[in-house]
Amino acid sequence: MRKLLSAILCGTIILGMSGCSDRSEKYQDCEPGNRYIMLDGVMETENGYYARRRNHMGNMLELCYYDKESEKAIYLCSKPECSHDGGEFCTATDKDIEPDHITMSDGYVYISGTEYSKADETLSWKLYRANSDGTEFTEVCTYQKQKNLENVGRAVTSTYYMDDLIIHRGYAIVPFYDYENPSLMYDCVANTMIIDLENGQCKRLPALDYDITKLEHGQLGYYVEGDYLYYYIEPPTYINTRHLYRYNLVTGETERIETNTRLWSFVVLNDVVYYITVPTEEQNYIPFYAYDIATGEEKDLSAKLSPYNSGEREPHLNSNLVCDGKYVYFMSPFYNGKWGQFYFMMSEDMETQVHFEAPKEMQDYYTELKLSNGKAYFVGEVTISNGDAAETIEDIIWITSSIAYSCPVEDIAAGNIEWTLAYDFTEFEMSLLGERADEII
Ligand SMILES: [Zn+2]
Repeated sequence: MRKLLSAILCGTIILGMSGCSDRSEKYQDCEPGNRYIMLDGVMETENGYYARRRNHMGNMLELCYYDKESEKAIYLCSKPECSHDGGEFCTATDKDIEPDHITMSDGYVYISGTEYSKADETLSWKLYRANSDGTEFTEVCTYQKQKNLENVGRAVTSTYYMDDLIIHRGYAIVPFYDYENPSLMYDCVANTMIIDLENGQCKRLPALDYDITKLEHGQLGYYVEGDYLYYYIEPPTYINTRHLYRYNLVTGETERIETNTRLWSFVVLNDVVYYITVPTEEQNYIPFYAYDIATGEEKDLSAKLSPYNSGEREPHLNSNLVCDGKYVYFMSPFYNGKWGQFYFMMSEDMETQVHFEAPKEMQDYYTELKLSNGKAYFVGEVTISNGDAAETIEDIIWITSSIAYSCPVEDIAAGNIEWTLAYDFTEFEMSLLGERADEII
């Protein structure tokens, strides 16, 4: 009997472990440092750029691709006889699908968004997947459906921004406004859908020791590392009390991480949570900690940020931490007695410490540091129109375009900081219009 039991136990452990490493091995290329992230509607890959355009020519969805080598812009649709007019035939354009977030992983383009159905007057929240050339555009799953559209969108403007769609270890992590669950203050709560990409099964992120509908906003501040999705929640009334949690994507278990609950912004690097907190009345600096999840040991690293400490308590409001899977970046509005937009890059051992600012070319734009696939970016938005050429106000066409400067993160770490133009999509927009270009002069 004992033999049988140990055999069963052993089998369970082996099965459990192989299930875990299967996922880790299969989806290795989606670690934070390798992720492709869409920055203000544009995502740079090795060979080109994917671009999302909004509400253009009556289309809600317009997916385009600009090839670096051929310098050609195309719609992400390989059907030669297609006029990309938003009809069902086209894979790049659609009149009823409105994309929310777009990302790329394992050679697929993933799109989260809403789709309106005229037939039953409903709005469905869906995740789509397409091959990198736009072919095989398919629905992975529908995770929310609403008939009463009166309130849809109201909370979107009144609550926090939603984080990006994250693809990690074969799961899609989709932040969404949950219209089936109202928050304490709004018609819906910021919730998270976990979608298994192998079978399209969706489930809401489980709440461990709180009722999500008793929160003012919901789950916020996502970060993924290893098998875990990290996030925090803000209980009502205690504005400065934030609890950090992590959800194991493989086992489905959730645990609370006992960091300081004045947590303001965090990242995770090799199972260590780096975070800044809201200063207390006595603290005239931004507190910065490293919390080791395995040992429970916490280090106070506040002294590392001393050049950013103004002697005032406000700077934390515009401070933030970001991470590319290798380096931790502190974003600050204050440095060496000056106000502005400053960055401080730190390696895990805190040995590499580089200070930098946004490139001069981008200083007139509202921009902040973004990290995608080993590069640091500053992205700005440009609005172009046919201006004087239009005869009436109705003839004026406005197009939002994007401009970005980038630098490989390893160059920054080595102190070789040279920001080069990553793309200027003013020209991209023009070239993409092709025969429609005469409309935009
Ligand atoms: Zn087409």
